[in-house]
Amino acid sequence: VLVGPGDDAAAVRPTRRPLLLTTDSLIESVHFRHGWTSPADLGRRAFAVNASDIAAMGGAPRYALVALEIPGRAPVAEIDALVAGFSTAARRSGARLIGGNLARGPHLAITVTLIGEAPGRVVTRSGARPGDHLFVTGALGATGLAVRRLAAGRRGRLPALPNRVSQGILLARLAHAMIDVSDGLAQDLGHVCRASSVAAEIELARLPVATACRRALGERAEVFAATAGEDYELLVAIPPHQLPALARLRLGCRLTEIGRVARGRPAVRLLDRAGLPVRVPRGGFDHFARA
Ligand SMILES: [Mg+2]
Repeated sequence: VLVGPGDDAAAVRPTRRPLLLTTDSLIESVHFRHGWTSPADLGRRAFAVNASDIAAMGGAPRYALVALEIPGRAPVAEIDALVAGFSTAARRSGARLIGGNLARGPHLAITVTLIGEAPGRVVTRSGARPGDHLFVTGALGATGLAVRRLAAGRRGRLPALPNRVSQGILLARLAHAMIDVSDGLAQDLGHVCRASSVAAEIELARLPVATACRRALGERAEVFAATAGEDYELLVAIPPHQLPALARLRLGCRLTEIGRVARGRPAVRLLDRAGLPVRVPRGGFDHFARA
């Protein structure tokens, strides 16, 4: 970093590696409601959702810009805590907050621009091929369940989001395609299918459903975990010849095979224990869907 926060613009020294650039917003009353998280957690979360997109391309976050919209009533200590939470999360991932902007607005809104670097191959959504094995990191459904409970007025906190940056870099060496699970596994796999012009099948019985989700929803937990979203785990398509190399990776987190990529028109099929397709009411989170 040649010029950090406080000047008209930040300046960084260019590197020879590909840069990855992404932006995302967290908006009060859209993505969260007042009181769902502490300001520091919200800062960490704002970093994590953007870092997840960089991880899904096989990169590591390096530089962050934050634009904050703040209601006039917000205490300064809360804003400080939010920014501190963001900076700490960034630093732990090897990134630096290098600038930003503050404006008064009707809601709290945090817009992050994150710049990352890809140490190796950049992995997109468009490389999946029929016969690829589908894997997902971590577990699914815990945050979706917490959001549903909080939205229903119950007490609780949003679970911390996973950091899959190191896993994304390792998986990028072997993957045909990769995406992070933000809108729901089925919906995000649908994005991969459309970008790659392939179909995909998920065996619901194989999904790594979070314990809390399994306990709360019983038989319905698998479909919920496949559609709820907010998991920020990595979904990856691995060609068969890379499976031995995959088994040798030291990922440091759970990795579960959940299905296959198939020939056909872009579509995602969720299969029950008998191998029959399950109809799902709704594909995942859509900002512009009618309630
Ligand atoms: Mg994404």
